[in-house]
Amino acid sequence: MLISSESISQSAVQGLSPGKKIGIIGAGISGLTLGLKLKEKGFEVELFDKGNSVGGRASSRRTQWGYLDHGAQFITIRDPEFKDFLETHLPENCLVPWNVNFAHLENHLLIPENQKDLRYIPCQSMNTLSKYLALELSVQTQVKIIQLLPQEYWILKDEKNNSYGPFDLVVLTAPPAQTAQLIENHSELAQQIAKIQMWPCWTLMIITDNEIQFPFGGIKCEHPVLGWIGLNHTKPERGKLTSITVQANWQWSAENLEKDTDVIGDILQLETEQILKTNLSPTNYRKVHLWRYAAPVNRAPQSYFLDPLNHLAICGDWCVAGRIEGAFLSAHELAQNLI
Ligand SMILES: Cc1cc2nc3c(=O)[nH]c(=O)nc-3n(C[C@H](O)[C@H](O)[C@H](O)COP(=O)(O)OP(=O)(O)OC[C@H]3O[C@@H](n4cnc5c(N)ncnc54)[C@H](O)[C@@H]3O)c2cc1C
Repeated sequence: MLISSESISQSAVQGLSPGKKIGIIGAGISGLTLGLKLKEKGFEVELFDKGNSVGGRASSRRTQWGYLDHGAQFITIRDPEFKDFLETHLPENCLVPWNVNFAHLENHLLIPENQKDLRYIPCQSMNTLSKYLALELSVQTQVKIIQLLPQEYWILKDEKNNSYGPFDLVVLTAPPAQTAQLIENHSELAQQIAKIQMWPCWTLMIITDNEIQFPFGGIKCEHPVLGWIGLNHTKPERGKLTSITVQANWQWSAENLEKDTDVIGDILQLETEQILKTNLSPTNYRKVHLWRYAAPVNRAPQSYFLDPLNHLAICGDWCVAGRIEGAFLSAHELAQNLI
């Protein structure tokens, strides 16, 4: 049985009222958003994330020279609900506009962009956003949930054999492949969710003493290898040295998934040097990261999933749009339904 958006909006999870316990798998933007919204309404919420810190794909690498944003590069704030949410949970001046020029690379030509949307960035690091959102929540990091055990309603088990719960409702915000695997024995939603695929993204981070004179802070690339070059040091409080985040395009990343990390780093660096017309070596810091589930190939047909019978729910950016704002909206709409 497929659960349609229509039946979703009419369904309610029986017995779910303020005071009940909700377990959330994943403390990225969607998990944190949902956690805050449900906590505000009186639910007891606990979040679990396998990462060392909160934030998921909206995170940053800490180095001795400052933070490098290696996942999400900036935030768009188009939806008024998202604006309200950020104003409520972030201190004033935490988010600032990224005040640089942006360009589009097409046929080897850099075309200055006509800025339609303002791009915002948190001070110091992209992670700052999630760290503030997590302040009021109970979050356990370095906990990878590997099993859901049905027991009025759910016990969660991690890879070290620890148990958490019982929870009256469990919400999963992990990428679709991982979510489908966790619920495959418990909900028919698993089949629908398993069909949603994500692009990978190879990412190179570089910090160098070499100064770069370049008129743009971010370049969106139509290029056989690259998708984006971000001059990280043009963001506030990202250190004094030149720092750069390079993201390969989705297609190239998928085609080169199994390549050696150093080889990937060399290719991305060379392509970037040609575009910036500069030499980035010697580098003080050079790391390559693979985002195995970076962005949705095919978006889900609905903004969240709810299986009221089995007390399970699912949300994430891949249900709305592969952006921070998409992650927020998916969690926001699920929260509206649950509340
Ligand atoms: C390279 C790249 C560039 C991007 N650029 C931008 C941009 O410029 N602007 C923008 O708005 N968006 C951008 N995005 C997209 C943005 O980062 C995402 O849309 C958003 O962060 C998704 O949030 P989420 O909470 O839905 O998912 P995630 O951030 O993926 O959170 C899911 C969390 O679940 C955890 N998890 C998974 N499985 C388990 C488990 N079994 N147990 C416990 N925890 C688990 C993960 O550790 C993760 O923290 C970019 C993404 C990437 C990868």
